[in-house]
Amino acid sequence: MTAIIYTGPLMTKTAAKHRVIIDTEMCKGCTLCIAYCPKKVLKESEHLNKAGYHYAEPENPDQCTGCLICTLVCPEVVIEVYDE
Ligand code: SF4
Ligand code: SF4
Repeated sequence: MTAIIYTGPLMTKTAAKHRVIIDTEMCKGCTLCIAYCPKKVLKESEHLNKAGYHYAEPENPDQCTGCLICTLVCPEVVIEVYDE
């Protein structure tokens, strides 16, 4: 039997606010996180990162519910969400 141990940031049901952090230099601009965020927290930046991609960035950070969907769909694993 295999045990799956989650070692990422711990989320709590009682946290009032959540903070989403994107490593913009590692983002490939695929926009999956933007499309799947149910609260429309993220948007595509007008600017390019050093690799030439329009990276994702928070547009409505106060709307983040900490659902973690963006972290699950990001193929580059460059999104972290923390309780505040
Ligand atoms: S944690 Fe959920 S609500 Fe917050 S930015 Fe990610 S997908 Fe959107
Ligand atoms: S899913 Fe990941 S790689 Fe794609 S735009 Fe969002 S942060 Fe960038």
